Amino acid sequence: MTTAAIIVAAGRGTRAGGPLPKQWRDVAGKPVARWTLEAFADVDTLVMVIHPDDRDRAEQVVDGLDVLLVDGAPQRSGSVRNGLEALAKAAPDVVLIHDVARPCVPRSVNQAVLSTLANTQGAAPALAITDALWTGHNNHVTGTQDRTGLFRAQTPQGFHYSDILAAHRAFQGEAADDVEVARAAGLDVAIVPGDERNLKITGPDDFERAAKILTARKLLAPKESSMDIRLGNGFDVHAFEDGNHVILCGVSVPHNRALKGHSDADVGMHAVTDAIYGALAEGDIGRHFPPSDPQWKGAASEIFLRHACELARSKGYEIGNIDCTLICERPKVGPHASAMMAEMGRIMGLAPDRVSIKATTSERLGFTGREEGIAALATATLVKS
Ligand code: MG
Repeated sequence: MTTAAIIVAAGRGTRAGGPLPKQWRDVAGKPVARWTLEAFADVDTLVMVIHPDDRDRAEQVVDGLDVLLVDGAPQRSGSVRNGLEALAKAAPDVVLIHDVARPCVPRSVNQAVLSTLANTQGAAPALAITDALWTGHNNHVTGTQDRTGLFRAQTPQGFHYSDILAAHRAFQGEAADDVEVARAAGLDVAIVPGDERNLKITGPDDFERAAKILTARKLLAPKESSMDIRLGNGFDVHAFEDGNHVILCGVSVPHNRALKGHSDADVGMHAVTDAIYGALAEGDIGRHFPPSDPQWKGAASEIFLRHACELARSKGYEIGNIDCTLICERPKVGPHASAMMAEMGRIMGLAPDRVSIKATTSERLGFTGREEGIAALATATLVKS
């Protein structure tokens, strides 16, 4: 069963207050018409009938949605007919006709109308009237009215396309809704349960009610766009060899040994660099700067770290923060930590409070405890918003 929906938005109604027709005003962060169109995103063909003067505004509102804009007529039934005629090529099996001023229509109502159409000529939602009904004159009650069999009509009203097209072509005059047009053509219309949330925005209070309903729905719905947050970790070890200083996180620290390695053996900077590559799922330093390539012999590790940061930014990520722990008995890192954080922040283009470098011993256990080398581990957070 192919489906279409016609959103009737050609009215100029400003009873709801404000200078704009109500369908173009915002509610819960989006134009009323946008909410209404999104409620019908499941149909095969979506048409919105608009006032010709509103075309520019309508084009903005439908941005990113597949919606056919059709000019309306002075009367509602003429507008619906234009929408139906515009569907001739698509020739859907069934069509839902809906007022743009009902942006809160639950999908369950649309589904009820569509599934009922499998067995009926027409289907439309309504709510039985439960309040007592009076007649009145000059603010005085003049009588009571039996409410038995009375309903408050809602939309969408659904029909088989060829039936409702023929009914509109034959109809003369003005109708309250499409059920009236359908019945004039002898079509039988089933009533399906309506929904109190499917309110029609008429006055200013209705905007508030609609905003509450739509805001609640927005909170329940999956986020339209969410942050992409990545974590990566890095771990590195370098052994000691003869020498008189080590390079740790870009800072030369006097020591009675040096670190052995293909580059400057900056174990801390390597761990941070690998954490960034890890967050990007881009392997590690060895993949980007193969140790077998002589051009990286003795290279400043800053080249690797800069490359990882540039790769992250080229993929749209900002580096949120890095945290690096150096593991060694000696040299003592504490006196140099602030210089290391400043240097790492400078290379990475990060504010000082986003760079953490700290140290620990391994309580004289293992290779770091025996002072055979230095280990480092690091975490990096990358954020794309
Ligand atoms: Mg290394």
